[in-house]
Amino acid sequence: ALDQPYQHLGTLEFHRPHVSAEFGRALQAISSRSKPYFPLTVPYVGGREIDRGAKEVSINPAHPGDVVSEVINATSELVDEAVSAAMAALSDWSRTPIERRAGYLMEAARWMHDRRKEIAALEVLEAGKPWKEADADVVEAIDFCNYYAHEMVRLGKGVGLLSPKGEHNDMFYRPKGVAAVIGPWNFPLAIPTGMTVAALVAGNTVVLKPAEQTPATAKVLVDAFRAVGLPDGVLNFLPGPGEEVGAHLVRHKDVAVVAFTGSRSVGLEIIETASKWQKGQVHIKKVIAELGGKDAIIVDSDADLDQVVPGVIYSAFGFSGQKCSACSRLIVLRSSAEQVISRVIGAMDTLLVGDPQRPETDMGPLIDYASQQRLKYYSDMAQSQGEVATAKLAIPDEGYYVLPSVALELPKESPVLTEEIFGPLLAVEIAEDLEEAVWLANSTDYALTAGLFSRSPQNIEFIKNELLAGNIYINRHITGAVPGRHPFGGFKMSGIGSKSGGPDYLFQFLDPYVISENT
Ligand code: GLU
Repeated sequence: ALDQPYQHLGTLEFHRPHVSAEFGRALQAISSRSKPYFPLTVPYVGGREIDRGAKEVSINPAHPGDVVSEVINATSELVDEAVSAAMAALSDWSRTPIERRAGYLMEAARWMHDRRKEIAALEVLEAGKPWKEADADVVEAIDFCNYYAHEMVRLGKGVGLLSPKGEHNDMFYRPKGVAAVIGPWNFPLAIPTGMTVAALVAGNTVVLKPAEQTPATAKVLVDAFRAVGLPDGVLNFLPGPGEEVGAHLVRHKDVAVVAFTGSRSVGLEIIETASKWQKGQVHIKKVIAELGGKDAIIVDSDADLDQVVPGVIYSAFGFSGQKCSACSRLIVLRSSAEQVISRVIGAMDTLLVGDPQRPETDMGPLIDYASQQRLKYYSDMAQSQGEVATAKLAIPDEGYYVLPSVALELPKESPVLTEEIFGPLLAVEIAEDLEEAVWLANSTDYALTAGLFSRSPQNIEFIKNELLAGNIYINRHITGAVPGRHPFGGFKMSGIGSKSGGPDYLFQFLDPYVISENT
């Protein structure tokens, strides 16, 4: 409830037999349906489902022949309709009291909570997420709803200003207008939900374009808000290709704010497009863009390797490395390099790579064929420039699987060390001392996450001051930020805008104004 403080929802305890049995049943119930498992995902505009238009499919990356959902793609005409619907709904929605708006978020969170296993099961099938990762994504979506609901109530109280005798001053916030939300496939529910509900609770109306790979999962958010009676036009949904639907949406004169999470190249294009004034446009578009990372973990010579090894393995290979927060560079000190590297490589061999429908799977497939090819490209490059240790594991014949690998002995300027690869390829760098380790960690275009394992208080202090990253983690894995606890996001080329799940995120969807009254 809104009068209780926000709390993070716990993840499912899959080690308890009844929990995993229940989850298995939820997954079974869906995967034994006739295909497609989720018959049709359609655009939703102004409270209407649009069931005409060109059909696409979303597939299961573990079994690419299995269609998860048929999808009706939106077109640029439908973008115009959706933005008109969002404009029409804006006047009432922006005047809806904050507590009511926050109430919709809390109820949508409750709706998702009641169906958390079914939703996570859908993510297993559509995104190829192992159980634990799928559940964590649903939990994060619920957390975002509850967290931003509370945050908006806090902001709604206004800000105290100096008011000398005879003058009363107040500062308030009003919504920017129509928000375009463009989401990624790697956190297919949580990230679109975070951006969408932040915009909504701040009083904006939204047009949401989900990633092409995971439209059915993103549609769950729309279903949740329909179920709790969100007024028509407040949230519109447009599955479709980024080049047409996304690009047209960003260009639209009535879109006031664009919230995007995805690749650096698309992010930069969005910023450029949004900066161009369109005829009839009456505001400067605000862009919030969460982009890539090339995240490093530094291992100090006195680090506890029993902590380091699982922390690095999970950071690098959790969800097959398909997180912008994932560890893609491991920086070790020469004095302990041999030991650390051999233990990390040894642990890599114990990962279970396979169908994420199976409860014991640690690493499922990559999201699509293009990703599989990209990993092959970087792995070949690493092989020719240095050395590659690949896990000695069997992988299924079908599905976009890539084995986890560690790349060593790379030249400093190797693209394997500088470009975001977004897959299970971890590059190792060796530093002579901690100063060099920090210098290496910071020698990247990005500044998203970073980690340190150390048992020296002095070294920890030194690193805390010197590491350049939006999220610095000490003696733990570097993924899995929790809203309200680890506000997430970086700087440099990792993005522009303030941290999701943090106390200043909502400001980005609001315009402040001051009323000064002589009394
Ligand atoms: N918030 C996620 C985490 O902390 C990463 C988000 C992303 O990959 O876009 O792991």
